[in-house]
Amino acid sequence: MPSMAVKRTDPNQSQFVRFLRWTMRGRGSQVKAMEDALRLRRSLKIIVLGSAMILMPSMLLAYFGISSIQGEELAVIDDVKNQAEGAADSFLVQYERGFTAFEEAVIDRLEAGRSPLEVPQELHPNVLVALKLDTNLAVKAPFYRGFQRPVEPIEYLFDAGIQRAMSADRRGEDAAIVSRLYSRAARNSVSPQTRSRMIFDRARLLEENGRTVDASGLFDDIRRLYGDVRDPWGFRMADLVDLYLAERQLGQDLMPGANALRDLVARVMDRRWAIGRGGEGAVARRALSQLEPLADSEWVAATRERIDDRMRMLYWAEQLLPELDGILAGQRNLSVDQGKMRWISGDRGLWALTWWGEDLYAFGLDQDTVLQDARRLASTVVPSASSVRADLLRPGSEASEGALTRRSLVPWLTGWSMVLAPRDAVALAEDLRQRRNRRIGIIVLAISMIGVGALATVRLVGTELDSARMKADFAANVSHELRSPITQIRLKAESLMLGLSDTEEERQSDYYAIVRESERLSRLVDNVLDFSAIERGAKTYALIPGDLGATVQAAVEAVETSAELVERDLYVRIGRALPTVAHDVDAIAQCVINLLSNAAKYSDESKPIRLEMEREKDGVAIRVTDEGIGIPEEDVQQIFEPFFRGGDASVRRRKGTGIGLAITFYIVSAHKGAVDVVSSPGEGSTFSLWFPSWNGGLADRPGA
Ligand code: ADP
Repeated sequence: MPSMAVKRTDPNQSQFVRFLRWTMRGRGSQVKAMEDALRLRRSLKIIVLGSAMILMPSMLLAYFGISSIQGEELAVIDDVKNQAEGAADSFLVQYERGFTAFEEAVIDRLEAGRSPLEVPQELHPNVLVALKLDTNLAVKAPFYRGFQRPVEPIEYLFDAGIQRAMSADRRGEDAAIVSRLYSRAARNSVSPQTRSRMIFDRARLLEENGRTVDASGLFDDIRRLYGDVRDPWGFRMADLVDLYLAERQLGQDLMPGANALRDLVARVMDRRWAIGRGGEGAVARRALSQLEPLADSEWVAATRERIDDRMRMLYWAEQLLPELDGILAGQRNLSVDQGKMRWISGDRGLWALTWWGEDLYAFGLDQDTVLQDARRLASTVVPSASSVRADLLRPGSEASEGALTRRSLVPWLTGWSMVLAPRDAVALAEDLRQRRNRRIGIIVLAISMIGVGALATVRLVGTELDSARMKADFAANVSHELRSPITQIRLKAESLMLGLSDTEEERQSDYYAIVRESERLSRLVDNVLDFSAIERGAKTYALIPGDLGATVQAAVEAVETSAELVERDLYVRIGRALPTVAHDVDAIAQCVINLLSNAAKYSDESKPIRLEMEREKDGVAIRVTDEGIGIPEEDVQQIFEPFFRGGDASVRRRKGTGIGLAITFYIVSAHKGAVDVVSSPGEGSTFSLWFPSWNGGLADRPGA
């Protein structure tokens, strides 16, 4: 393939102008001649055509593409938002249902005249304590608060009389003496607690020593005088007496003893228990354990549960009452409606309050458990595969950025709220980014394809126009090239025929002109015929092994006396011992003549022309060098194309058809050779033809 070692660049030519020129020029440099004049019109055409073919569809594509990206992003965000809203609604419905069920259960029990204070966990599993308060907001049931904590049993430790009586009893001294000691200790006691206890211990001693009449008198006294007094450990004296006597009875006579114990349990359970160190639970439990082998097991289990429940409630009542006191004190004119629940959250308890008649009912729920349940519920309303995540926010905390929706847990949990946020905001953003990039990529690709398509069309149209124009030029050139030698020959022949040339010298000149012009004519006709045979595919060459040097030498000799070259300095150097080359003698001669005639045509008459031949790379190279106008860089790739003629004015001035090099290239190719050009505009060109040496096989006879 042709190549060029010398580069020529015009620093004043911008990239854009070069690009425009490249898109407009197509293949033929003929276009270049008109280019300047047509530049403006063409540029306008390009702009109109470009905007019609590239800009408009690209802009439309970009517009719809971008709006579809935005649409998709909004749809994705909407989808996540909808998921969040749905989850939040379903959470709130279920969450509310738990509380309204509780409220209804409480009112149901009250309406049915049953106490909501009994086993309140049945009303709501998180109830820790259920209380009834009176209009003064004092605890009324199932506990009371009148009981004062007794003084620590210091008297027991430091009163000598008590110590003496108790140690004598422990040692098992004579009952009469111990009884007297107890009696004295009782008389000397300063507090009813110790006094009643001393009387109780004395009565027990008497009872166990057979003095039952005296003992029961004392027990009666205790019941009457000290029944509600609590001993230093918080046991009610009447309960202690009842328990003791019932147990004694059980030891003597089963049934009445069991009945007495059962009555005792029923009495204790019906009574309000004391808040503080109330011994009711311990008494009831002990009585029940005595009864256990005798009583109906179902009753025992149910009663044990009631006792445990009451004891648990007592514990929580003691823990949480200060909080309830604070809430009630803080709500002077407590706005709680009859039969309507009012929810207030404290630090540990979540309180539900309602008036029923004269009584205020207060239910303390475990706030931690309520929150835990809410959290669990929140995590179940959003499936693990969902792209949203639920969180509970404590009072005063701000929802994180990007939260999708928020639901207040008021009125149940003051200040708390449930927030739904994207499960993974980073992943969501990344997902959106990837979708966007994919779409942008497709749009860019589509726009580039439109652009490439449009450009290719412009190029193709330009190329086709150029080739049509080149063919038209060729026809014009050939007819011009035919006419001028014919005219010359006719003119000179006429002048000889009519004897118009006077001198011998003039006549010689006429003959000479006729010969020169007919040589030109026959060369032209040869080329045109050859070319048309090549075009038709009818051209064949006879490749016969032979001395290429001799063939070239003969061709040079035939042409050097021609009119074109006779005046020129032609230097021919043919190397010795060149390898044999299978070649078509006429075709090679045609190549040499074409190259020499071009060298003469495109260089000044004063400049020499050189032909060199030498062995090169397993073959022979023929090199024709001139010092002529050279070939511009942009033309080099095209000079071997049919009909191509250089666009420069210096080329246009010279006669030509644009098929000489095309034929040369075809002939060299048919010989499996190669052509090469090195040219520098203004300095000259070197055309090289290379032919492979004959390998000793049968000569090819390649067709066209
Ligand atoms: P033409 O009849 O135009 O000479 P060719 O096929 O022989 O057709 O050459 C094609 C073009 O190559 C020419 O028009 C010219 O621009 C360029 N060319 C060929 N040989 C030379 C040369 N020796 N010096 C400069 N330009 C040349």
